[in-house]
Amino acid sequence: MRVKAFQRIRSFLLVRLESISMTSKMQVFTQKRNPITGSTEWDVQHEDYDFHQEIARSAFADMLHDTERNKKYHRALQLAIEKMHEAGKKANVLDIGTGTGLLSIMAARCGADTITACEAFKPMAECCLKILQRNGVADKITVVPKRSTDMTVGEDGDMKEKANILVTEVFDTELIGEGALSTFSHAHEYLLEEDCIVVPDSAVIYAQVVECPTLQKWNKLNDLADEDLEVILRTPQKMKDCAGSAAVHDVQLSQLPRHAFTELSDQIPVFYYDWSGRSPIDMKRTVKQEFTVSNTGQAQIVFMWWELNMDPEGKICLSCAPWWAHPDADLSSDRPQDSIPWRDHWMQAVYYLPQEITVQKDSEVSLVSCQDEYSLWFYLEDEKTKRKHYKRPICECGVHMSISRTHVSYLNDGKRSKKLLAQLKEDLVADAVVLDLNGSSFLGLAAAKMGAKTVYIIENMNLNIGILNDYIKENDIQNAIVLPEVTDEVLEKITNVVCDPNFSCAILPWENLKVAYLLYRYRSKLKDFVPVIPESCEFWAMPVEFQDLHKIRIPLGMCEGIDMSIFDSLVESSRVISDAEMEAQPLWEYPCRCRGVPRKIIDIHFKDLKVTYACDGANPIVDSKSEGSHSVNGFAIWAVWIVGGKPISSGPVEWPVVGDRVNWDMHTRQAVKILKTSKIVSDSDKWSYQVACDLEKGQFNLNLDWVNEES
Ligand code: SAH
Ligand code: ZN
Repeated sequence: MRVKAFQRIRSFLLVRLESISMTSKMQVFTQKRNPITGSTEWDVQHEDYDFHQEIARSAFADMLHDTERNKKYHRALQLAIEKMHEAGKKANVLDIGTGTGLLSIMAARCGADTITACEAFKPMAECCLKILQRNGVADKITVVPKRSTDMTVGEDGDMKEKANILVTEVFDTELIGEGALSTFSHAHEYLLEEDCIVVPDSAVIYAQVVECPTLQKWNKLNDLADEDLEVILRTPQKMKDCAGSAAVHDVQLSQLPRHAFTELSDQIPVFYYDWSGRSPIDMKRTVKQEFTVSNTGQAQIVFMWWELNMDPEGKICLSCAPWWAHPDADLSSDRPQDSIPWRDHWMQAVYYLPQEITVQKDSEVSLVSCQDEYSLWFYLEDEKTKRKHYKRPICECGVHMSISRTHVSYLNDGKRSKKLLAQLKEDLVADAVVLDLNGSSFLGLAAAKMGAKTVYIIENMNLNIGILNDYIKENDIQNAIVLPEVTDEVLEKITNVVCDPNFSCAILPWENLKVAYLLYRYRSKLKDFVPVIPESCEFWAMPVEFQDLHKIRIPLGMCEGIDMSIFDSLVESSRVISDAEMEAQPLWEYPCRCRGVPRKIIDIHFKDLKVTYACDGANPIVDSKSEGSHSVNGFAIWAVWIVGGKPISSGPVEWPVVGDRVNWDMHTRQAVKILKTSKIVSDSDKWSYQVACDLEKGQFNLNLDWVNEES
């Protein structure tokens, strides 16, 4: 499974799912955490809910849409089988991690003599068997539903004899994060002949040292400053000094604006991996490489990507480099990032250096690259910063453990916080008693510093409380009180309510309606007309044409001449069961064009908690300005928060122009619905939505689709 997909599942499981089975027979009672109310609710779900969730959200489909990957594996496999035959030998293929069976079916079509396919994820192995039958190759391929490291060779073993060709694709964005090192080592020791051919033959990991203040916002909390750049809250020293987390940040680096980073080094090949068995695989390595600094700057980050050499001669190479380092990029084109293959299952990785150092152009410094069995980390050293140990960075400040990278970047988004602080300054009355509804933000603490008499901050997550307390100490705040719940007595005293509208536990934009839910609960106890920041919230939607993102969801049909419809049905049924129709995506990483004027679908005023549904019904597609036919393959949905009468968008940063690429806010995720089939649209096509918002129960339901003209 790919890193991002896995993180998605993991966060979903952590936040919402503690499944406790009560009955058998297809349906179970599951406890689901409602992120708006924070409470746990019972729900009836399919008994294999977790499994379906995993299938529905895995990046399998996107990986199978990766034509470059498929074709290069096919060609290298073909060469390996031919080579065995030319040497007068049988071609006995082992496919580790067969998934849908794709590579085994290719081997069968290339004339392999025997094929064994193993797959550790049992439901996938079952699906594979059916795909083999559908494609008429079930008699040629033996499926072993096991992890390769549990396989045996011999008369009673999983294979009668050792194989002489290994084909396997067990790589993730970090290359080795799926356990490739032990998979290959074990295979060479127990499952393969000595003079075997391995597809791929080898890999190289590249690193590039950069200064990138934009991405650094995803890593470390900055001091909070107001419009006049006066520091309101200092970040505790231990957070500034923290080495951070070693967990990889996978990013579509090609979408990062070119002016957002400065290259301080060339691309440096840091690790070579010989998969062929000619040399042993190191489970642990540390490599120090000296290089000449190419630009003066602050070394903050290491960008990483890798290349696979598919064949022993090095003729077929697959690169995951971002466009500026990609061998096939067209650097003369307007958008070179569009000239290289797109994939989401492998991205580029961002590693935050444990310590920033300033480096001078033309000076010599050393990059220290470290690797253990599953992960990588990096250090940068000059004369003054030499170390004895290069241990894997671990968070000692709490921020990197309890706050997601996206939320850290949100809190660092100065533009937004300056608007909130300006309004706060205006609203604070003399002797203000402030209620902050969001303890995963710093607005309440800022109010405490900006003259409020007392501030009550609602927070019940221990890790967030720890962070607030560190800020309270660092900034010598005496008038802030953190509580899990507020009492009626407190509510009666409140003169101002504030809520930075981004909760660390919210994934989809409307999960931030926790602000409205809490106000609804407290409304009878609060004084009339207490000012609230923000004043209101709007949700907007528009049809879009994704350049690539739809590939993570659209059915495969045929893949390299192989019928994959059985896999499509499995994904589709899992999607229905796990209800994964709407998902959160950082759309700045996934370009799309606007294919219809954005529509406001609902707004909620916090003063009187009035919910206004925008006129319901069908909305025309307005794309008559640009020539030719256009297709729509999804919808994007985002929140706009009104502060001081002005909008703060967590969607487009400029008003979208129909037909143009949309410029998305980088510090939040938007909701998307990806359509199974893209639709060619004309001026008369319409889309519609249904929305329901229940503030008392803390529920928000939204659906968007085409208007079916016939019905
Ligand atoms: N070979 C397929 C699928 C690749 S995805 C294709 O190229 O399309 C990787 C698959 O390998 C996943 O299904 C994962 O469950 C499986 N896998 C990873 N390591 C494995 C191992 N050591 N033994 C068996 N399966 C493994
Ligand atoms: Zn930390």
